[in-house]
Amino acid sequence: MIKRILIANRGEIAVRIINACNELGIEAISVYSKADENSVHVELADESICIGPPPAADSYLNIHAIISAAEIANVDAIHPGYGFLAENEKFARVCKACNIKFIGPDPESIALMGDKATAKKTMRELGLSVVPGSDGVVKDYEELLSISKEIGFPVMLKATAGGGGRGMRIVYSEDELMNSFNMASSEADSAFGNSGIYVEKFIENPRHIEFQVLVDSYGNCVILGERECSIQRRHQKLIEEAPSPFLTDDKRWEIIEKLQEVFSKFKYEGAGTVEFIFDRDGNYYFMEMNTRIQVEHPITEMITGIDLVQEQIKIASGEKLSFSQEDIKFSGHSIECRINAEDPETLRPTPGTINRLFIPGGFGVRVDTAAYCGWKILPYYDSLVAKLITFGNSREDAIFKMDRALSQFLISGIKTTIPLHQRILHSKAFLEGNYNTNFLNEFNR
Ligand code: ADP
Ligand code: ADP
Ligand code: MG
Repeated sequence: MIKRILIANRGEIAVRIINACNELGIEAISVYSKADENSVHVELADESICIGPPPAADSYLNIHAIISAAEIANVDAIHPGYGFLAENEKFARVCKACNIKFIGPDPESIALMGDKATAKKTMRELGLSVVPGSDGVVKDYEELLSISKEIGFPVMLKATAGGGGRGMRIVYSEDELMNSFNMASSEADSAFGNSGIYVEKFIENPRHIEFQVLVDSYGNCVILGERECSIQRRHQKLIEEAPSPFLTDDKRWEIIEKLQEVFSKFKYEGAGTVEFIFDRDGNYYFMEMNTRIQVEHPITEMITGIDLVQEQIKIASGEKLSFSQEDIKFSGHSIECRINAEDPETLRPTPGTINRLFIPGGFGVRVDTAAYCGWKILPYYDSLVAKLITFGNSREDAIFKMDRALSQFLISGIKTTIPLHQRILHSKAFLEGNYNTNFLNEFNR
């Protein structure tokens, strides 16, 4: 049984995990950097421990400091949230060695899926179709060239250790290939400490649709449907919705059955997300798997009624899933807008202090945030200020609620993405549910 959990994260996800702990009767211990002394995740936890100076490398990414805090606080488990150490194999290994339960899959699964080229190979062998491209990391330029010619330009070069929308490069012709390859490798080396690059077909105007997976330690697997995440900027999600307006019921259940088959053969534990890319003809390909809770998990909670963070904790405690695939019913529609401290025109981060704040509520509106009046958005960390989530009986209903809530979300002192969300919500393409990952590029032109 887990009685005390250390939360190795900050911001809204730390608060989200505290909520789950409270509701399960588990004590929550938060950690914070010097810059986060006045953060609500510190105040709302049962205990809090300072783990270092402001830069993430010295605090939220400092394995030694976090494990020391966990030892001092005498916790049974660590929840890593998303980002930071959530997909760090070494961290999961150290937790295990210290007899602290890492809330997530074992280090081997993290390593396997964290290496994106190997993940594709594994999933292909388990029966999923993958984006056409190299079978693993490319050895040298000659191999890259020959595969690129075979699949045809444009191609995408991707860092095998990449994530967070970084480490990707589109190459339109053979002329640019050598130069792009050299740049991509050296960038990957400095950003991720791994220069490995794989290549795949660049799918034009695709949709990003991902499926939520839960597997308990007895191998029981439930697929909680999909999330449509095609509204992106710089390959990062901005608006998500569930269910996807593009998927037919038949396609949804076809993929759920396929994933059930995959996870009956692939040893995994905890929550995970399988990301697919869909081309214009409805063909879908495995892209990558994230072995953690996802930023946009609330929209799945809204349409299934299942608390994903509580389920993660129960699975880590060794409990069996209390529902099976047949019990899962999708009802209504949910949308999430990521409210970031960014200039809505340039989408560049705008750190600063919130000096006035009103957070909307009401029927069908959920806000996951750690923001308060006086909160300083720091340049050291992610620019996410709040996740505004709405739920309605229909897609139209969820959009109306979102429009109402966006106009009631009052923040002064910093610029946010709220005006951009409003413009997107009013666009014909969004209202019709007719969009792909290229939406924002065309929209801003
Ligand atoms: P999601 O996949 O849940 O939608 P994002 O891609 O927005 O999430 O990433 C969630 C957070 O994790 C962001 O703060 C992002 O910068 C960070 N992140 C994700 N993967 C990595 C990685 N490999 N390296 C560094 N940061 C990452
Ligand atoms: P990350 O690990 O950063 O989340 P992903 O591999 O999930 O990286 O890709 C992020 C986004 O980049 C996708 O949601 C999609 O918009 C775009 N993308 C990735 N691969 C391709 C591809 N082969 N063709 C077109 N777009 C792609
Ligand atoms: Mg991804």
